[in-house]
Amino acid sequence: MTPLPSEAHPAGPATVRRHNRGLVLTAVAGAPASRAAVAAHTGLTRGTVSSLVDDLLADGMLVEREAPRGGRGRPANPLQLNPSGPCGVGVEIGVDDVGACVADLTGTVRAVRRVPSDHRRHDPAHGLRRAADIVRDVVAEAGLPVAGVRVALPGVVTPDGVLQRAPNLPRWQDVGVAELFGSLVEAPVSATNEADLAALAELWDGQALRDMLFVSGGVGVGAGIVLDGRLFHGAGGRAGELGHVVVDPGGRACTCGGTGCLETVAGVTALLRAAGAADVDELVREPGAALDVAADALGVALAGAVNLLDLPAVVLGGVYARLGDALVERVGAALRARVLARPPVRVLRAAVARDAALRGAAIGVVRELVGAP
Ligand SMILES: [Zn+2]
Repeated sequence: MTPLPSEAHPAGPATVRRHNRGLVLTAVAGAPASRAAVAAHTGLTRGTVSSLVDDLLADGMLVEREAPRGGRGRPANPLQLNPSGPCGVGVEIGVDDVGACVADLTGTVRAVRRVPSDHRRHDPAHGLRRAADIVRDVVAEAGLPVAGVRVALPGVVTPDGVLQRAPNLPRWQDVGVAELFGSLVEAPVSATNEADLAALAELWDGQALRDMLFVSGGVGVGAGIVLDGRLFHGAGGRAGELGHVVVDPGGRACTCGGTGCLETVAGVTALLRAAGAADVDELVREPGAALDVAADALGVALAGAVNLLDLPAVVLGGVYARLGDALVERVGAALRARVLARPPVRVLRAAVARDAALRGAAIGVVRELVGAP
């Protein structure tokens, strides 16, 4: 006889307390609130709220502000998330640079830095040391205790933080980034795909679209699929490799071993070539033919994705956001011609155009700490 699935277990006291801590923290995340207001908002008893609040004050997660003067009776001190409390650190390993940023408990970015670092030429140990150096810089600048670090990586990342494959970084195959970086920065480290983190930054800090395909355009092209306000990871966390969708089967060889992938036509290297530009700033100033090239290729790849997944919006991020409304209009026209769904899919520029993956990484750490959904 097939065994029944394991029974659901009642939550233990530690789990209940952790859950209730999350309720209190999210209750004050939007605006400062008194203990009484927190109790009313969460449905917890005043005694439970007071005990949790005392712990959270001791842990540096909350601060109690002075009550406004002048009212009648004893005023209640409002509580808020402590901007000097534990922070989240985001790190991004790009193809040719590395960045780090610090977000405080309220989600405010307190320090950002990005420096060149050639990860095609140097091995992972070199890149991670360089990343650890700038983490020390941004943490010193912010002057906050570090709760955790999240690394954004340009490739396929397993849930335990191993970079399995990054076609643009051939030396970074099967690298246990979370573990290696953890020993360099002496903090809990997780690692995730950069486009997924950029999509989350757009969800939390940008246009808050609960269903969207977020496209991150750089040397590589990735996508974050957001369904009902959550990232869609696929069966093994590998969903969103939009850059390796084939748009020109007889086209150029791709770093992945295939030919004619979207990245070979609409990645930054290809766009620089199409525009005859020396760098991204020049490409953005005078895109020329690169605009049509990018729009045509994105139109083909995105129409396939949108027809398959029924997503109402496509958000163009990274270099695509910087290419402006002309690209948005052309991609929109391509999708209207190819997507069956009505009303037509909306195409938008990302609101978080710069450092999106870094922000998503750092804010993700503090959101998890606060217990935000
Ligand atoms: Zn490819």
